Amino acid sequence: MVPSYMHGVIDMVDARKVKDMVAKKSSQFMGSMAGAGKMPPHKHCRICHEAIPVKADPRVCKNQECIDQNEKDEKNQKTVRIAMFVFFGIFAVPYILVLVSRIIG
Ligand SMILES: [Zn+2]
Repeated sequence: MVPSYMHGVIDMVDARKVKDMVAKKSSQFMGSMAGAGKMPPHKHCRICHEAIPVKADPRVCKNQECIDQNEKDEKNQKTVRIAMFVFFGIFAVPYILVLVSRIIG
């Protein structure tokens, strides 16, 4: 157990620690704020997350691997979209047919 007279000392130490921590954190915060002000606007390569110019289109860096990967991804996305469409169609068409037949008949 800690003797009672030590409590005051421990409190003092803790208070100083907390103060230090707060000071550090706030200076870090201020530093990051200042840094953000200096940083020119930029985007990140969607493959390797390298910083790239805002105007970069497609959103990849000049790395050929990233360009290829981006093209592959876009093709995959298109395929997925078509597959979704077909999938939806398979379920929607009979449903619509049932609806129509009910309306008619
Ligand atoms: Zn990249």
